[in-house]
Amino acid sequence: MLDLEFIERYIEDRKEFFIELASRVWEFAELPYEEVKSANLLIEVLRREGFEIQEGLAAIPTSFKASFGSSSPVFGFLGEYDALDTLSQEAAVAERKPFEESAPGHGCGHNLLGVGSLAAALACKEYLLANNLDGTVIYFGCPAEEGAGSKQFMARAGVFDGVDFVYTWHPATKNEVQSNRSLAIMGANFTFRGISSHAGGSPWLGRSALDAAELMSVGCNYLREHMYDQERIHYAYANAGGVAPNVVQDYVQVKYEVRSPKVKDMKKLFQRVVKVAQGAALMTETRVDYEITMAFSDYRTNSKLAPIADQALKDVGPPKWDEEDYLFAREILNSYNEETLEGIKNTIIQTYGIGRLEEKLERPLDDVVHPYDGRNVSYAGGSTDVGDVSYCVPTLNFHIACQCIGNVGHTWQTTAQSNSSIGYKGMLTAAKAMALAAIRTAKRPDVIEEAKEEVVVQNGGKYECPLPDYVKPPIGKY
Ligand SMILES: [Zn+2]
Repeated sequence: MLDLEFIERYIEDRKEFFIELASRVWEFAELPYEEVKSANLLIEVLRREGFEIQEGLAAIPTSFKASFGSSSPVFGFLGEYDALDTLSQEAAVAERKPFEESAPGHGCGHNLLGVGSLAAALACKEYLLANNLDGTVIYFGCPAEEGAGSKQFMARAGVFDGVDFVYTWHPATKNEVQSNRSLAIMGANFTFRGISSHAGGSPWLGRSALDAAELMSVGCNYLREHMYDQERIHYAYANAGGVAPNVVQDYVQVKYEVRSPKVKDMKKLFQRVVKVAQGAALMTETRVDYEITMAFSDYRTNSKLAPIADQALKDVGPPKWDEEDYLFAREILNSYNEETLEGIKNTIIQTYGIGRLEEKLERPLDDVVHPYDGRNVSYAGGSTDVGDVSYCVPTLNFHIACQCIGNVGHTWQTTAQSNSSIGYKGMLTAAKAMALAAIRTAKRPDVIEEAKEEVVVQNGGKYECPLPDYVKPPIGKY
């Protein structure tokens, strides 16, 4: 357990420093692709620690890579640091109180994510030096996870080539190696063009783009019956063609997103949606074209890394909560409305059993490590660009409790907890678990080889970006 003691001591000795860093990123609260101050702050620390910096990867100004060492194995940590619009909230306060009215806030805890991964990278560097071990440690600065992503652009640009394995984490409500999966996603804008006309005087001359868009919705609704259960189609009108009912609308733009458990099925589903759009255009004698705007591959935990990561998290143990943490968590829990609370109660019953419901409502913080479940084939409803990294290199994501049990993501409650004792205890736990898992993996060339073989089975031998080449990072447009 010498490695555990080393990592524990390294992180604990510097915990005030890491907390300060994360609280500064929390205050910056920068939107996707605009994380200039956050990225610069992290770069400054890594440079001071002797890491070599490469900025602006894949034509994204706030992305970067920080490397230490030049020998094998090459391993890394993914860091994120973007905030969400309008979720500004005062720190550690259990009532809605914006820190700055209508401003962005860290409602997904990426301030903790970015700094937790940085702390893990520094701890690994020190461990390699102290023990005279070979290896290269890389911190990948990955912007805009809440935007159109960055990791798939970085993967397409070859940023993860030559990397043996990657660890990452996400602030969550429980402590575990993620065993469920995320869905692949593709987003596109569909534009219908028709012919404008007086809707009363000469409607026979008009060809309605709005009719076409509505028929596309109808067609997609019929399509839903013939998709895999986990697949999803979402849409929103970006431009409904104006507000005058007495004009035949000649221009409409609709945004569509499709999700599927596997990236290859997602591409097929997207093509079926394209056919529905073409059918709608045919029926209405309008024209349609589309432009893909975003796409992520599905995420799967690498099953060869999982046992090492699972043991590392068990060795580190859950965050050590005190009475003040429980009190704040209870206040946050009680800030949710009745319907949400009902859902939270169900989550508690499913996770801990009905016998612990009252106790967990009283002390709503996860105080155990849940074992990795390799048989779990369920899908989280969401999608993440970490999926694309998992299609390039062996990748593993930890969930660490930084929020009350049942907490809802992308809320002011998450912003409040992401700059609180609860969030920071989770962040430091994540840093320790990731660093420990990484140094133990680095010592196992056999596991690394098997983990890479698993990626080859998954991607067919080569990573293929789900985005067509024409899609560039939407810098300044997001
Ligand atoms: Zn997130």
